[in-house]
Amino acid sequence: MTWLGIDIGGTNTKVALLDDAASVILEHDSTPTDRADAHAAVRHAAELGAHWANRHPDIRGVGVTIPGHFDAATGRATIVPNIPGRWLGLPVREEIAASVSRPTTLINDARAFGLAESRLGAARDSANVVALVLGTGVGGAVILGGRLYNGQGGLAGEIGHMVLKADGPSCRCGNRGCLESLTRADVVAESAGTDTVAEAVVRARAGDGRALAAIDAAARWIGIGLAGVATLLTPDAIVIGGGIAQAGEVLFAPLRKELLERTPLLAPESFRVLPAALGTIAGAVGAATIAHDAPAARRSRSSI
Ligand SMILES: [Zn+2]
Repeated sequence: MTWLGIDIGGTNTKVALLDDAASVILEHDSTPTDRADAHAAVRHAAELGAHWANRHPDIRGVGVTIPGHFDAATGRATIVPNIPGRWLGLPVREEIAASVSRPTTLINDARAFGLAESRLGAARDSANVVALVLGTGVGGAVILGGRLYNGQGGLAGEIGHMVLKADGPSCRCGNRGCLESLTRADVVAESAGTDTVAEAVVRARAGDGRALAAIDAAARWIGIGLAGVATLLTPDAIVIGGGIAQAGEVLFAPLRKELLERTPLLAPESFRVLPAALGTIAGAVGAATIAHDAPAARRSRSSI
């Protein structure tokens, strides 16, 4: 038996196939997302799923990431910020399940990233993991005892929307001063005087003062945010991924310093701060993992 994960991303749609125990990545692939509109992106994912399901009759269940939010009860999308089109009410799970003829489970993309990194990636030997993914938005995930903690409505893990600065900049969630409003890609790029955060990272690594200051400021806010989360949850590991994480120690050194200074109750050696290890397939791996973990999949497995 195997598990299929499909990660609908803003640029590419990735697919990963995991073994029965969801512990080995058997195959993976990537194709450009159809960005014509929301339905085109979902239809493309459904077609990919059908193709893989035909090639691999042993696929037991399918997981699909949504780069935004959805209603877990109905499998319909609610808010998807980074792919154009009308997502509200789109029956994503229904359409993909009909196409793949397998139990299908949806998962937020940042939650999929965190779950994958906690099982097969940077924190694979840790039971309690906090994950943070820095990009167009700032997403997160909480894994407790090796399992994704969903919270009500699947909203647990929204680290990017913790308020760190009273009366700070407006956030796209409607609040002010959220971690995301201080550290998302366009904010860091603007502060660095570059068009993209990737360019800011290149300049910072070359020693550009303005780019270094921009990444240092983001690192400090991230360190402050993570200090609160670490004090609350005492995780074994914190995994950080996304564009700005490519900056390496330019980001991680000031981040660790801030985090350690602001967690006086925790022993410094009690947790590790790690760069993500799975790269661009993390979302697809996490999607396949949630298919494996899903109650529907476990029921059908136990009935065999
Ligand atoms: Zn917010």
